[in-house]
Amino acid sequence: MKEFDLIVIGAGPGGYETAAEAAASGLSVCLIERGELGGTCLNRGCIPTKALCKSADVALTLREASQFGVNPGDISFDYAVAAARKDEVVNMLRQGVESAVAGCTLIRGEASFVNDSTVEVNGEAFTAPRIIIATGSRPAELSLPGAEYAVSSDAFLSMTELPGRVTIVGGGVIGMEFASILNAFGVEVTVVEYMKEILPPFDKDIAKRLRMALSRRGINIITSAAVKEIRQDHSVVYESKGKTVELSSDMVVMAVGRRAVVPSGIENTSITVGRGGIEVDDLFRTTAPGVYAIGDVNGVMMLAHAASAQGRKVLGHEIDLSVIPSAVFTTPECAMVGLTEEQCKEQSLDYKAVKIPFRGNGKALAMGEADGILKLIVDNTTRQILGCHICGPHAADLIAEPALAMSAKLPVDAINETVHSHPTLTEVIALAAARV
Ligand code: NAD
Repeated sequence: MKEFDLIVIGAGPGGYETAAEAAASGLSVCLIERGELGGTCLNRGCIPTKALCKSADVALTLREASQFGVNPGDISFDYAVAAARKDEVVNMLRQGVESAVAGCTLIRGEASFVNDSTVEVNGEAFTAPRIIIATGSRPAELSLPGAEYAVSSDAFLSMTELPGRVTIVGGGVIGMEFASILNAFGVEVTVVEYMKEILPPFDKDIAKRLRMALSRRGINIITSAAVKEIRQDHSVVYESKGKTVELSSDMVVMAVGRRAVVPSGIENTSITVGRGGIEVDDLFRTTAPGVYAIGDVNGVMMLAHAASAQGRKVLGHEIDLSVIPSAVFTTPECAMVGLTEEQCKEQSLDYKAVKIPFRGNGKALAMGEADGILKLIVDNTTRQILGCHICGPHAADLIAEPALAMSAKLPVDAINETVHSHPTLTEVIALAAARV
């Protein structure tokens, strides 16, 4: 039996960053991974998607190049090249992860729990007083007739050629990012979303804004529609407003959420598994002493940066987990932090919300990306920011400033009193802070 100070199961962003940091602090750390280093984020999620988003942005820019005085001639797309570039980006980052975890003992194989403090990998036993489970999640499947004819986000990201028409089931984060990419490459895209609006956790004004922007680009977005069947010929049958509609397409992508991947042998432990994943308390302790669960596997917040932040909390860092920004890498991007206006209303909060359009911003206009809004919501008594919601250029980067103000519990006036450089997109935040 090999003994360590800490065992980490899973080398996604939650697992490998936590393992690397624990090893750097002097602990003996065993990191166990059955697949590629980097987990979903690096191999089948955030990073490959962002590489494809860049290809999509180049395609969109070229399409509109003549208005900038650039005439690129005939534009043609080579998706195989875009896919190969995506793989190169992933490979480079994988090497980075390998060096980041150099201070850990890396065990390749599937960990299975023997008891609360022991796991077995390839027939060998490992024990530690602390074990962190960071085994992530996998794409969820709808149990409906013909579900096997749809592909998951994993399969979508490993394609090297694109079909002509794609139907995406689910207008959540993954569905909208894929729709935005596919449309830029000239694919005919339809998104079928069950709820009244796309991006259910986002502020409704922002989600609507994105829906309108993507609809103008030619993406067919159908909301309040329940998919009932997927046929072998990739047609999709859905019900909406009492009507049954059949939609023909060449490929169906299922993007209806993700499910926790619970390690095997969990039944040999006192760990409790609920509907959303492994149950944890505020410090990410499971019901087994010394065993923690971070990241997608606990279902608290399925975001790479939330997983790493939870890992830092387990290692004893003071870190504010109440303020976690998130972003959707569509064109235009969307980002949010804190409460939506709908949540403020539900909670009967005394708040003020202002909306600032990007079209008044010099940088956004100069970039030709002035389609969007920023909504800032502030508590009328404390003047602290309750939420910020953006649909517009570089929203994913812009959200960091209100997130910092919220985390540091600064009043919104601190933003107003900070000089923002001109001409930048950040002036939209400053203007919102001045107006609210
Ligand atoms: P999601 O929960 O964001 O969206 C799934 C969507 O599918 C929902 O809008 C839901 O209403 C819809 N849906 C469910 N059943 C349906 C049906 N029968 N017919 C039509 N629509 C249906 O899930 P996702 O987009 O698959 O993403 C999974 C997880 O990964 C999320 O937690 C997400 O936050 C995370 N993620 C984050 C990012 C990012 O931060 N940029 C990117 C990708 C994924």
